[in-house]
Amino acid sequence: MKTIDDFDFKGKKALIRVDFNVPLDGEFKLTDTTRIEAAKPTIIKILEDGGSAVLMSHLGRPKGQAQEALSLKHIVSAVSEIIGVKVNFVENCVGWEAEEAVSKLKSGEILLLENLRFHAEEEKGDEDFAKQLSALGDIYVNDAFGTAHRAHASTTVVAKFFEDKKCFGYLLAREIESIDKVMKDGEKPVTAILGGAKVSSKITIIENILNKIDHLIIGGGMTYTFVKAKGGKIGDSICEDDKQELALDILKRAEEKGVKVHLPVDVIAADDFSNKANTKETAVDQIPDGWQGLDAGPKTLELFREVILQSKTILWNGPVGVFEMERFQNGTKAVGYAIEEATQKGAFSLVGGGDSVAAVKQFGFEDKVSYVSTGGGAMLESLEGKTLPGIAAILK
Ligand code: AMP
Repeated sequence: MKTIDDFDFKGKKALIRVDFNVPLDGEFKLTDTTRIEAAKPTIIKILEDGGSAVLMSHLGRPKGQAQEALSLKHIVSAVSEIIGVKVNFVENCVGWEAEEAVSKLKSGEILLLENLRFHAEEEKGDEDFAKQLSALGDIYVNDAFGTAHRAHASTTVVAKFFEDKKCFGYLLAREIESIDKVMKDGEKPVTAILGGAKVSSKITIIENILNKIDHLIIGGGMTYTFVKAKGGKIGDSICEDDKQELALDILKRAEEKGVKVHLPVDVIAADDFSNKANTKETAVDQIPDGWQGLDAGPKTLELFREVILQSKTILWNGPVGVFEMERFQNGTKAVGYAIEEATQKGAFSLVGGGDSVAAVKQFGFEDKVSYVSTGGGAMLESLEGKTLPGIAAILK
């Protein structure tokens, strides 16, 4: 796997695909700088080598039309501040304006190109457009994990014009290493904690990871499809009736493969899907009608904790309760604390894909686990075992 450490960028122009798809408020002020900070180490290494950086990204969904509100010009000063180097901006990402701006770029300087998705060709993976982009750098660096599952011009197609002059930035390299640490060479016991609302959205992940894990903890809304399929009473809890057979099949296959499945034994049930609901603890398979399980109960959390603490490799995807409501956060927090403790004892812990990342950030576990993925969809597809086109294009 080639990374920027395999190149000397002295006198070279690096064309870097970053993920600056950042949230802006009504006054076009950045409300979360995480993605820019995440790209900083790569940019700094290239500048310190004596190279220059041409940054390309998308912002929002302009669908091939230039839109003032989605111009990357709004983030120029924020990027300058975070990187600590003045950032130049050009109002197009291809064509003569871009080429002229690149030709004026000197060592140690940064140029940010306008939103790639102002051109419909970007998302279509258009080869001519990718070729035009490729004229803007000597070495292609992909550091955008968030779009690595898309075969777009700037994330995938452009790579073919760089032969051996292409590599991963630090951020993308770290994402790949972290996924490999779980999926390829995870130290045993390997535990996956899968939560979230539905079995259907996690089924491909479960199928893919059953061969790689020792323990599967199932939590959150997914629980009730399994419990009902096993003959339990789940009251009004969320359930995918048409996935009951699938749930039983997963349990059977897990057993055949020697994977221990841990389902909740008790829950916090509520008489309404609301933070103001009445609540009570019940056995997971004895939930009365009119009540629904919205969080893991204390016995469950003790059980989950024990499994997590004996694990050497941990993957967490999906909250184990409705963590958006304060009264049902306890389970998700407890899982976070257990992972933190296991990590302190030397386990490798990866949090990735969707809402568990939001939960980890909200509850301050970000620095307490080994790695928090920056890519939602890209992470899910990796866990499903798919080869991401953006990664494959560099490896080719
Ligand atoms: P996902 O995007 O599949 O990871 O699902 C995350 C969502 O699942 C979050 O919005 C949670 O509120 C929701 N969730 C977790 N547990 C439950 C539950 N017991 N009942 C309903 N929704 C749940």
